[in-house]
Amino acid sequence: MERLQLVPVGLASGDGLPELELIDRLATEAARVMHTDCEVETHSLPADFAFDEIRRQVWSTPLLAKLQERRRPPGAILLGITELDLYVPVLTFVFGEAQLRGPAAVVSAHRLRDEYYGMPANSPALVERLLKETLHELGHTQGLKHCTDWRCVMSSAHTVERIDIRQAGFCTACARSIPARF
Ligand SMILES: [Zn+2]
Ligand SMILES: [Zn+2]
Repeated sequence: MERLQLVPVGLASGDGLPELELIDRLATEAARVMHTDCEVETHSLPADFAFDEIRRQVWSTPLLAKLQERRRPPGAILLGITELDLYVPVLTFVFGEAQLRGPAAVVSAHRLRDEYYGMPANSPALVERLLKETLHELGHTQGLKHCTDWRCVMSSAHTVERIDIRQAGFCTACARSIPARF
């Protein structure tokens, strides 16, 4: 992975588009942890085509396909970031999804916010969770599968509590199986 390009994802109405400040903070953190160039695209991706009116959620898999169609420099990974709630048909929701050994991934801040669980907003916790989800999905794009070490960012997590106990990094075994630059 030579570089990371963050793509804001939302509805054409503007709903679900993350604030630029949040995207910038994620870009800074991701660039620092992964020692890679990180750029925020100004051209957002409209998610209306994948929006399910009944579930009020966006199916993440077609988003990955749309991201993959975008022009990108060689070795670049495209990471969509959204406030919209994501799902895949067999699951109630997903925090994110990625193509295994592919160039596209997407993460959602929707269920990473303390406000979603009725608590006051906690901006540092949100950025930390987003960073961990980003590392997790990027790990999949680099060919990593789920890890049994619960501290490793590649362990599977379906609750924010499980995300919080993961470290923002890969265990030794996972780190060894991804190409350099992480
Ligand atoms: Zn995963
Ligand atoms: Zn691991």
